[in-house]
Amino acid sequence: MLGIGIDIGGTNTKLVVVNKAGKALAQERFKTEADKGPASFIKRLGAAVDGLRRDYGRQLVSLGIGAAGDVDPERGLLRFAPNLGWRNVKLTAPLERLTGLPCAMENDANMAAWGAYEIELKRKYADVLTLTLGTGIGSGMVIDGKLYHGSSGCAGEAGHIKIIPDGRLCGCGGKGCLEAYCGSGAIMRRARELVKNEAAYVKKFADPARPKFNTICLTRAAEAGDPAGRRVWAETGRHLGMGLASLILQLNPGCVVLTGGVSRARKWFLPAMMEVLGDQQIKTPFARVKVKISDDADLGSHGAALFGLERALK
Ligand SMILES: [Zn+2]
Repeated sequence: MLGIGIDIGGTNTKLVVVNKAGKALAQERFKTEADKGPASFIKRLGAAVDGLRRDYGRQLVSLGIGAAGDVDPERGLLRFAPNLGWRNVKLTAPLERLTGLPCAMENDANMAAWGAYEIELKRKYADVLTLTLGTGIGSGMVIDGKLYHGSSGCAGEAGHIKIIPDGRLCGCGGKGCLEAYCGSGAIMRRARELVKNEAAYVKKFADPARPKFNTICLTRAAEAGDPAGRRVWAETGRHLGMGLASLILQLNPGCVVLTGGVSRARKWFLPAMMEVLGDQQIKTPFARVKVKISDDADLGSHGAALFGLERALK
């Protein structure tokens, strides 16, 4: 039995065939071209699924979509997808009609959370909190072995919990959100405040193959002993610790999984983050929780495939 995981990105849509053990067997991709509208997209997605069926036939039993944005998983409705510019698009029902395969859809961070639970942790923990650390911060929760949605499918907006009263402005319009401190854009804004000559900094520290002022450059700078780089990552760790402490107090997870591009700087932000967790007064949830960093860039799409399979076989 195989499932297809679908990751709808702003530029490309990726399909991956995954077996029950979470191993990817094949991939397919096509240009999302969101401006052509949902009807055209669904048709092309159906054609891509058909392409994979030619190779895998009846072994393929399910579809799972991870979509960035506001998703109603019950109705298979993409309420808002900022990267596609779509509002209130029904995806799962037309896709099921077109392909004859059952289709589950969740927010992409929820699918990454399911991937962390199934693939990274092999269901060793029943209660898992996953944070995806990138431009934005997403989160998903598996509670008692089930993906938690909340009453309207919006659970897991951890990027917008407030960590600093009246703090920095966030992309959501609010102030003091976790994302306004620990999203990659926010991290680089803070770095800009400390680095006087950006061009010289890039020349000195960035990967010569990708000479950009970004979190990779900042990590390399920290590695080389640069005080600004180390300071920004230590601050990021403290802020992440503050957000995470609230979430751990509320959820008491067995394991927290951090994933996404920013998590690769673990060496530089993790010590400060763990210090904040260690300083909490209510000790037990922090003493027990395991913190893992996942480098699996495909947790979202593979998680989506496994989630779709799980639903279909239930
Ligand atoms: Zn916000």
